[in-house]
Parts: sequence; structure tokens; C-alpha cells
Amino acid sequence: MNTTSPLLEQQALVIFSGGQDSATCLAWALNRFKRVLTLGFDYGQRHSVELACRKRVREGIAALNPQWAQRLGPDALLDLDIFRQLADTALTSDAPIEEHGPNGLPNTFVPGRNLIFILHAAAWAYAKEIRHMVLGVCQSDYSGYPDCRDDSIKAMQVAINSGMDASFTLHTPLMWRSKKDAWMLARSLGGDALVNLIVEESHTCYMGQRGQRYPWGYGCGECPACRLRAVGYAAYAEAQAACAQNPLEEEA
Ligand code: ZN
Repeated sequence: MNTTSPLLEQQALVIFSGGQDSATCLAWALNRFKRVLTLGFDYGQRHSVELACRKRVREGIAALNPQWAQRLGPDALLDLDIFRQLADTALTSDAPIEEHGPNGLPNTFVPGRNLIFILHAAAWAYAKEIRHMVLGVCQSDYSGYPDCRDDSIKAMQVAINSGMDASFTLHTPLMWRSKKDAWMLARSLGGDALVNLIVEESHTCYMGQRGQRYPWGYGCGECPACRLRAVGYAAYAEAQAACAQNPLEEEA
């Protein structure tokens, strides 16, 4: 199964962490754009396991579809090891993870992290004449980070286009999808093979653990990121099982 979309002749840049969301966005972009580059950030994450997964997810996605392999351009990693100086958060320190910190946000929140990523990605893409950027941010089923919200992304698009006198388009294919629907999107793009690749190779766990294999992939199973992924995958698997029992419903 492979949902076809009109192929756009332009290049696109996917902000790619090696997690479930950006892996899905990479497949989404490869389905639409003639050439797709990936960009990641090394920002002093608690665990570099996320960075190691990027390579395997990229290679795995290219192996699924010869057209995707042809369209997939190079990967780049920008060093943004400045967050530790900006804020002491649970993502860049050894502090225990709390879902509701003093300001109501998870203490994994790095203030404006996505905005900082987008700004740097735009500066990087500018000279390469890339004007489409794809981000795996999501407002409907998210971890409480305000810079994932649609308004934040739209405001950032206005800011970079004004500040760089350019016409960037920021694509957010997951913005209004639940975690379950993100798995459904992956399946519509690359079938069970893509879903299996994302389960096996993408990394979500805040604790950087890949020891235990759950139905939804590897992780600690306890941190907020693992729990969000587990709940979404369980809803997806339940929907798939219901379709398998009654295939006519899937076509309806
Ligand atoms: Zn975890």
C-alpha cells in the first residue's frame, strides 16, 4: 500500500530526530517531494541513542521503496549544544523526569526548543534554496510543549519569511493527528513494513533505554514519551485487529 500524491519538483528538509514522528514525516515528505534532505540537532540530549537511531531509520526507509531511495538526499547534524547554558531541564541533565513541573509544563521542556530548531534549520536551508520544511510537531495529542502548537509554528513561518525575506512553507502533517492516527498515516504511506521499521528502529524514550521490547518498540515503558507511544500504538493495533475481523469496514 502506498498513498500517492502529486510529486512536487522542489526540495524539502525534514527536521529529523530519529523518533516516531519525524520518521513518519520523512516517509510523508519522500512521497511528495523530488528530493528530501534530513537535518538533526545535537543539543546535549541526555542520551545519544536517539542520534544513533537516525541512521538506521533513514537506511530502513530508503530500503522500503526504490523511489524513496532515489529521492532521499544527504543527512546533516548541527551542533546546538547551547541548551545547557539556557536552561537546566530533564532532557539535558540527570534530573528526574516530572510530568508537571512548577509552571505546569513537563520538566523535559526546553523553552522554545522547536522555535530554535526551526530558526537554525531555516538558516541552514536558505543557502541550499530549500523552502519546504517538514516538522513532526503535534498539537492534538502531545506532551504539553507550547512550541508544538499550530499557532507557534505559523508565527515562526511568518517570522522567518519576514526576517530572511524568503518564502518558506512549514509542513506539519501530524499537527492534528492523534498518536493512533500517526501510526495509521505511516501505514498508509508505507504499509506494515514502514510501521514495523518505525516500531523497531525509531526512538522515543526520554530515558534512552532500548533494552526492553514492547509491542510499540523499545523503551523504559514508564516515562511520559514511552506511555504516549504505548497508548497510541495500542489504539492503532486495536483498530487494525477490528479491520482484520471485518475487512469491508476498512474499505468503507
Ligand atoms: Zn521511556
